[in-house]
Amino acid sequence: MRLAVVGTGYVGLVTGACFANAGNDVRCVDIDPRKLEMLRKAEVPFFEPGLPEMVRRNIEEGRLSFTGDLAEAVKWSEVIFIAVGTPPGSDGAADLSAVFAVAKGIALAMDGYRVVVTKSTVPVGTSDRVAEIISENTSLPFDVASNPEFLKEGAAIDDFLKPDRVVVGTNSERAAKVMARLFEPFIRTGAPVLFMDIRSSEMTKYVANCMLASRISFMNEMAGICDLVGADIAKVRIAVGSDKRIGQAFLFPGIGFGGSCFPKDLDALHATAKSVGYDSLMLDAIVRVNKRQMGVLFPKIMSHFGGDLTGRTFAIWGLSFKPQTDDIREAPALKVIQWLLDLGAVVRAHDPEAIPNTRQQLGDRVVYTERNYDALNGADALVLATEWSAYRTPDFGLMKRLMKTPVVFDGRNIYDPERMREEGFDYYCIGRPGRERANG
Ligand code: NAD
Repeated sequence: MRLAVVGTGYVGLVTGACFANAGNDVRCVDIDPRKLEMLRKAEVPFFEPGLPEMVRRNIEEGRLSFTGDLAEAVKWSEVIFIAVGTPPGSDGAADLSAVFAVAKGIALAMDGYRVVVTKSTVPVGTSDRVAEIISENTSLPFDVASNPEFLKEGAAIDDFLKPDRVVVGTNSERAAKVMARLFEPFIRTGAPVLFMDIRSSEMTKYVANCMLASRISFMNEMAGICDLVGADIAKVRIAVGSDKRIGQAFLFPGIGFGGSCFPKDLDALHATAKSVGYDSLMLDAIVRVNKRQMGVLFPKIMSHFGGDLTGRTFAIWGLSFKPQTDDIREAPALKVIQWLLDLGAVVRAHDPEAIPNTRQQLGDRVVYTERNYDALNGADALVLATEWSAYRTPDFGLMKRLMKTPVVFDGRNIYDPERMREEGFDYYCIGRPGRERANG
């Protein structure tokens, strides 16, 4: 099939590349000339494992191309996916201006029947508005479908190629047939394509993300209680997650969740609920717990250093909001860094992928190091903010030799408190009895 995918970010580019990889002809559209220039040379503007190889192969085999000309892509294609950003507006509601601009652009360019698919995460009712906008600008036939995306950055290709389920919302049989055909190669292992009405499909995406976020906030609260009553959240987590009704995923406490999706989608669903007169207590609590959690290390740090961080040097390991991505949107690490800088500390940071994005945001107020150990040179303490696998089994002896004082604040609970004590570190973590000083 001939497909246009509008927006070449984490979702659009993965969608375009994976559909091309399954044998479709795909034209990806973006308004960012810098991105287009890179993509035409098969350079991917962000870090996503496996994506550059897939993009290059499909360009070379003639199935994947890039353009800034939406009209030309619309005229050429049979199905158009809208995968542009839906960032939060000033009131927390999703800013849908890009989605609506694309809808109008599609209507003005189409020259016959098209299936228009909203893949961006959009509030309930958006696809209906997309249909209205198209109707207002053309009398040609079309159908709208909602097809929310559930991929995870860092494992996006695998998630797209082997989805747990595909959700399609449409009231058109013709569009449903097209979507079923498109997704057929990805569901050979039996994952279902769940057809439903458009509003339920749009709502599904928000419910899924808010549910995942709620598990994290819930466990962060339980970790806070563990900290005070002397229980170990790591043991509690495994025991609780062993219950088949609960499962182990998304139960890891830490310094809060970030990223481009959870915070934004929580706010957007909250705004949707408010707009229809529903006061959502749970959504509000998830957000408030997360905001508080981002500061969970602060009192531990302040107390360790006697309330004064002026001139202290902190090493930060991990900048991205989670491992395997260079995405720093809403990353807890950046909140920690900002707080340290505001209190007069010096920050030396390492991340395997996210330094260029962080430099763009924080500039040279932070010293960036190429190797994780270099960040430790002369440091009074290390703050571990993102659990990249390279940080999991470091050379503790080397760390101690490089640091001014062997102090670790572990925002992701990746080290064993007992081992850290044996290695001679003052080790602070979250919800575990690990904060005893090595020297008594
Ligand atoms: P992104 O910011 O990485 O990419 C958006 C792209 O759209 C950018 O390249 C931008 O230049 C382009 N764009 C903006 N306006 C445009 C226009 N008028 N015409 C053409 N291109 C335009 O965003 P993303 O992370 O890929 O997210 C896209 C959507 O998918 C959002 O609604 C997001 O909530 C949703 N989503 C994201 C993820 C994720 O992990 N990132 C997962 C599931 C769903």
